[in-house]
Amino acid sequence: MISQKMLALGQSRSCIRELFEYGMKQAAVVGRENVFDFSIGNPSIPSPGAVNEAFLDIVGTEDSLDVHGYTSAAGYPGVRKAVTDDLNARFGAHLRPENLFFTCGAAPALIAVVRALAVDGAEIVGVAPFFAEYRPFVESNGAKFVVTPPDTVHFQIRLDDMADLINEHTQAVLINSPNNPSGIVYTKETLEQLAALLTEKSRQVGHPIYIIADEPYRELAYDGAEVSWVPNIYPDTVVCYSYSKSLSLPGERIGYVCVPDSAADSDLLFAAVAGAARVLGHVCPPSLQQRVVARCAAERPDLAAYDKNRRALYDALTSFGYDCPKANGAFYMFVKAPGGSSKAFSDMAKEKNVLVVPGDDFGCPEYFRLCTCVSYDTIQRSLPLFKELIDACRCAH
Ligand code: PLP
Repeated sequence: MISQKMLALGQSRSCIRELFEYGMKQAAVVGRENVFDFSIGNPSIPSPGAVNEAFLDIVGTEDSLDVHGYTSAAGYPGVRKAVTDDLNARFGAHLRPENLFFTCGAAPALIAVVRALAVDGAEIVGVAPFFAEYRPFVESNGAKFVVTPPDTVHFQIRLDDMADLINEHTQAVLINSPNNPSGIVYTKETLEQLAALLTEKSRQVGHPIYIIADEPYRELAYDGAEVSWVPNIYPDTVVCYSYSKSLSLPGERIGYVCVPDSAADSDLLFAAVAGAARVLGHVCPPSLQQRVVARCAAERPDLAAYDKNRRALYDALTSFGYDCPKANGAFYMFVKAPGGSSKAFSDMAKEKNVLVVPGDDFGCPEYFRLCTCVSYDTIQRSLPLFKELIDACRCAH
């Protein structure tokens, strides 16, 4: 017999994947240049030169058995030290190398943390709009996913609504800033208010309610937006990080869980994360990528291309009459669907080979997501189509 739960997950492709596959098929019919695919968050800037040089140099000069061998489950001491040195220098974080557990990216990092907290009846509170994979990550790993409704004015956190959702089963609040899909950075004030709420709620329920800070976009911020180091604001924070976006390495699968000493029961929580990773089949993080990260811990992406795209799309779309918050992080824009249904708008756009992701799976069905990690030329040539789409919606109403 086959698990019906897993079968359902395997057979229902995510909406993003479906659009992406559709785009590839359409490209074969109408030509790649005539498909305007804003569906998938694949970085469009190359990895920093130092990263590619590190790959080549390590493979070319270091002992091949070492380079390709197993490492300790949490990662090489050298990579853990290099990254904590960088975080300490930037954020005054007071981390030890032993606070980091390297993983194959943010997705397994998140799942390990969820599993580590998934006691009987556990609930994890998310914030809409949220990364669509959070639901299967949480619900298939022993916890209930409870969603705070979206703040569609500022795309911060509706703390009063969140307060009503927290109870004795709440193990953690899962946040993501800079946010996928809104492209918005949570302000320090928002995080301070969230910290005050969770401090009070933890006291009421008699156990720590952790923040899980999912931060693959930490280095992608614009207009001077500050991306806070959340443990400095709320000590009971576990950070999940990935190099997928910051170093444009999504296929290389490297990231980490950081359990700072400040988090309640940090040693036990770290051990539970290791245990959860173990049952998920984690043996060790990829050894070559660890070596690259150890050399490139201080490398940052050159955001000029993303920033140019972000500005061009925002200026043009708002001038056509679209309503969207001005993204100051990641490489996404979240746009209110003219006509009210993002699914209907996405279907309409698809007819013109413009691929945008409806917000239903992000917990915000009135908005659609655009990935701005595309070429500038794609953006420029798509603009008349976006104009036609909003005009058509106006005519229809
Ligand atoms: N969290 C968010 C918010 C994401 O957008 C993504 C990927 O797009 C992930 C986690 C997973 O990242 P990774 O490629 O490191 O597994």
